[in-house]
Parts: sequence; structure tokens; C-alpha cells
Amino acid sequence: MTSELPSTLGALRAAVSAGRVPRRSVRDEIRENLITRLQSGQTIFPGIIGYDETVVPQIVNAVLSRHNFILLGLRGQAKSRILRALTDLLDPSIPVVPGCEIHDDPLAPLCSACRARVASEGDATPIAWLPREGRYVEKLATPDVTIADMIGDLDPIKAARASLQLSDELTMHYGLLPRAHRGIFAINERPDLAGKIQVGLFNILQEGDVQIKGYPVRLRLDVLLVFSANPEDYTARGKIITPLKDRIGSEIRTHYPATRQHAMAITAQEAWLDRGKRAPVAIPDFVREVVEEVAFQARQESKIDKRSGVSQRLSISLIENVVSNAERRALLANEAVIVPRITDIYAALPAITGKFELEYEGELRGADNVARDVIRSAVSNVFGGYFGAADLRQVTEWFDLGGTLQVDDALDAQSLLARAADVQGLKDLTRHAGVRANADPPVLAAAVDFVLEGLYAQKKITRSDEFQYQASEQPRRPARPAAAESIEDFQMPGGKKKYYN
Ligand SMILES: [Zn+2]
Repeated sequence: MTSELPSTLGALRAAVSAGRVPRRSVRDEIRENLITRLQSGQTIFPGIIGYDETVVPQIVNAVLSRHNFILLGLRGQAKSRILRALTDLLDPSIPVVPGCEIHDDPLAPLCSACRARVASEGDATPIAWLPREGRYVEKLATPDVTIADMIGDLDPIKAARASLQLSDELTMHYGLLPRAHRGIFAINERPDLAGKIQVGLFNILQEGDVQIKGYPVRLRLDVLLVFSANPEDYTARGKIITPLKDRIGSEIRTHYPATRQHAMAITAQEAWLDRGKRAPVAIPDFVREVVEEVAFQARQESKIDKRSGVSQRLSISLIENVVSNAERRALLANEAVIVPRITDIYAALPAITGKFELEYEGELRGADNVARDVIRSAVSNVFGGYFGAADLRQVTEWFDLGGTLQVDDALDAQSLLARAADVQGLKDLTRHAGVRANADPPVLAAAVDFVLEGLYAQKKITRSDEFQYQASEQPRRPARPAAAESIEDFQMPGGKKKYYN
């Protein structure tokens, strides 16, 4: 495209016939721009992590096939982000009739106002250039979406008075789909659309016309339609009208990050972690790993509803809240660096509990307890990776001999290290967490905290909810009457409630 964009219809016509301005359908435009990217080896979807060998090749194939397509996946799988990223495959700008609500092509306007204008002004008709950002329309489908919202509305009295013709839409108020003319229309959570709307969409796609309030309206729209949906809703019988399903060329399944590394990369990209100049944030790798593992464990947890999924946003909100708890501690203790600990993850329950739906069994147990169980499994898993070969006996024996250690997530690093110094062998173990013996106190404190929480997660020691650590094998109190059968009522040694399985 030339730097001098044509500003009149005559100049545009000349530029198009000379090949300086491409004229093609949206799908051809996206296809050709994608081909250019593939040939030059550019990244197709910058910022989309972990889909390079699964989702991205399928989207590329759908675009090359000029298909309308649907992304099927659970929440927090970057579906909306991918659909929005399709905008980057559009031309930087396209010529339009200025002021037209449906971005009419000056060379073939659809609406009667533009047709009348082009007829009267001829080659002198001015041309405007619409940037690609203005060519993406998105709609979250809900059951209350109407034909008027989606396609448009007519004033029936005006229509009758003007004795409206089949192709005349003089009195039409355009909905979202016509406003996406010559662009991309994304409908999120498509199964929530009423059947009538789906029929309307199908008619537009298939026939280029639609009935509004009984009047046929002709709209030969050029739109790439893309959808997203939860897979179970989508396959549920009766929710989707079959003819519309048939018009969707490709069904592409998204997924959660396959590896902890991918998940960590996504979270690092999305989370707000830099808290300004006052104190730098240094997040130990083991904390990052546990944060991701919380989401992985939650996705496997039988008390959590698998149908709605556990979004990657859980890890993102969680690590932000973990950093904030560490920031709060650093502010109170006047520490110069913010170093999150494993116990900060327990303090960040509010970032977790809203991110999943509970099964009945989970409702009985309570969201907070389910979240604590999940964190504990995550810590156990990550701790096993770091400390699988470590000899933990010296520390567990110290507790077995009756030692107790009281710390909490508000305790500053120096105080924590001073208290932990009583526990023989504890500080030596921190090297397994990848921390040097001469590291800053907040870093060492985080590593000590990791050892204690790891031992607790693996049930080698126990602790109260107030973070008093002690031996796990304590003399049992007399068994309670048989009524105490639920998990909540099960008593731990020392009268502590058992908050885990
Ligand atoms: Zn127009």
C-alpha cells in the first residue's frame, strides 16, 4: 500500500485497478496476511504461550481454509485473547465511505444512503480509511441478547409508510453484526444465544438476508465469524442449531498449560509484580512453582467442578496477592526487598476461592478448606522435586524430641531466622531450595519457610493454623464418640482440627 492513501472515489478506483490498494474479502485478506507472516517466519500470535504445537497450527489451518471457526475450551484458556489477536492479521486500514455505520466499501456500498451518495457525488465522493482496530466487534452471548442487538431493528411504521422494498434498509437501525461488516465478529459463549438469534445468524451467513419484524432485509455482509464456547455447553443437545454448527468450518480445542514452565511464563507475562522503586520484588522459583501447582492441583481436585474449569487467572491473581502479602510484611519490617514465602500463599486464599466452582462434596468442606488442601498438595509436590534426595531426619527428629517453632507470615526475616536457628539442621537444608548460605535474610527466611511448609505438606511434621510447627506423632487424645464422623470433626493430636485429608 502506498503512503499516499487515495482520498476520493476516483483516486481509489485508479489505485485498485493499478493493484496499489488490494480489494478482497475479509477472509482472503486475513489469509494473505497470514501467508506473508508464515513465509517471513514471524510469530503468528505474540504473547500466546504453550499453544505453538497444538492450538496455533489449527487456527492457521482454519484461516488458510477461510473458515468461520469456534474455539472450544474452559475458562481462562486465552480464547478471547486469541480471537482479538486475529485483528493483527487485517490490513492496517481499509477504504470506507465516511460516516457509514457499516463501513461500506466505496466501490460497492450496501446501505441505501451510501449508494445514493456515490450516485450523486461520483468520483468526487470522499474516502475515509478505517484502521484495523475498528474492524473487530465482540459480543458476550447471554440469553437476553435480541435480534435487534445482534442484527438490527426496523421502525415498522416508517417501513410501512415508505412501502419498504426487499432490499431497502433505509429505516434500519444496525445491530452488532452489520457493524462488523468487512471485519471480524467474535461471539463469546455462543450456546447462550437464543435459538432465534442463531437462526438469524445462519440466514445472514447462508442467504445474506434476514427477517426483522416480518420484513425481509437484505444484507450481503462480508464478515469473518469466530466463536468461543465451553465444550460441554457446545455439545449439549438442543443448545446449538445444527445448520449453524454446519457453517462453522473448524472446531478448535484450547487447553490449560501443559507444563509448569509454560504456566510460569504466562503468569510472569500477565501478573502485576513490579511494585515500584521503594523495594524490588524477588520471587523465589519455588514460590512461583507452587503458585502454578496450585492451579494444576485444583484442576485435578475432585471437590472442584471440572466442567467450569480453573482459569489461568487463578495463578495470576494468586501471585499478585502473594507478592502483596510479602510487600505488607516488608513495609512493616522496613525490609529493602520483597521476598514472598510459601506461607504467603495461604494468606492469599481470597485470590483462590473465587476462581473455582465447588462440587457438592466441596461445598460441605468449604471453599477455604478446599483451597488449603489444594495449596498443601501443591507444596508437597514441589517440595518433593527440590528435596527428594535430601536427608530430612535431623530436623524431623528435633521436632520429635518435643521441639516447637512458632512463626507466622508477618514475622520479619531476621526474627524468623533467629527462631529457626534453634532447629538443628534446618538452615543447612535451605541449600536444596537453591539458596546460598550467604543470601539476603529475606531470601534465607523464605527458604526456611519452604522447608517447614514442605515437611508439613508431606506430614513429616504438623502445624497449627497459627503456624506453630511441632512433631506429627503426638499421643492421641481419647477417641471421640462415633458421632464425629465428618472430616471437620476429626480431631488432630493436640486438639487441632484436621484441615486436610
Ligand atoms: Zn453505508
